[in-house]
Amino acid sequence: MNDKVTDAEADAELNELIELARKRFAGPINFLLSAPKLEFLPSPDVPEIAFAGRSNVGKSSLLNAITGRHGLARTSVTPGRTQELNVFEVGEPVSFRLIDMPGYGFAEAPKDVVRQWKHLVFDYLRGRVVLRRVLVLIDSRHGIKPVDREIMGLLDKAAMSFVVVLTKADKIKPSALAGLMEATLIASRAHPAAYPQVFATSSEKGLGIPELRAAILAAATL
Ligand code: GDP
Repeated sequence: MNDKVTDAEADAELNELIELARKRFAGPINFLLSAPKLEFLPSPDVPEIAFAGRSNVGKSSLLNAITGRHGLARTSVTPGRTQELNVFEVGEPVSFRLIDMPGYGFAEAPKDVVRQWKHLVFDYLRGRVVLRRVLVLIDSRHGIKPVDREIMGLLDKAAMSFVVVLTKADKIKPSALAGLMEATLIASRAHPAAYPQVFATSSEKGLGIPELRAAILAAATL
């Protein structure tokens, strides 16, 4: 009986947070700048939440779905061109920032592009004091790949808390989704910096978007 009350309370709390996040993300969100180097970033005066993932994982689509703005993040830009941290500000006055990190894992990228990427990303992950959490995006059809493990390893090394977010969940059978979430959770448990939760999302169908918004708001402001 007591457990039930607790569950109901937890549900009510989550629903409240989801509604709060919906309102917050329906308010002003502005693109601030693209930073090719850390010194171009704004002063670290509000919390930041960063989005990371392989090229084509659906990162731009997810950012657009979360913010409810179709043109906010540019989808599928030429790989290798996006060696920048794109900064978006939520709220006026700004309460937190969303950082769109350059996609990784592009097969034919020249070595110096990859080096430049590692430099920028590692410096950012290690040195940005206001960075609260990184969302590591994984394509539901492909699961965690070696290159994803590499970035998770980087996050472990930087002691930077991250959470795995499955994208394009509409592309796999609903019956396979629970198993994929469980397997992904188990895999992420091998990483000390991983937050013990996995989100399944579809930017196309809106699946999991309200819950992810709530998690972002909680990580940024609570
Ligand atoms: P990015 O390179 O990580 O920014 O990926 P994009 O957001 O540009 O998406 C890459 C491709 O995946 C595009 O063709 C999108 O239309 C598609 N895509 C992204 N999100 C979803 C989704 O939730 N469901 C489906 N079915 N396709 C998606």
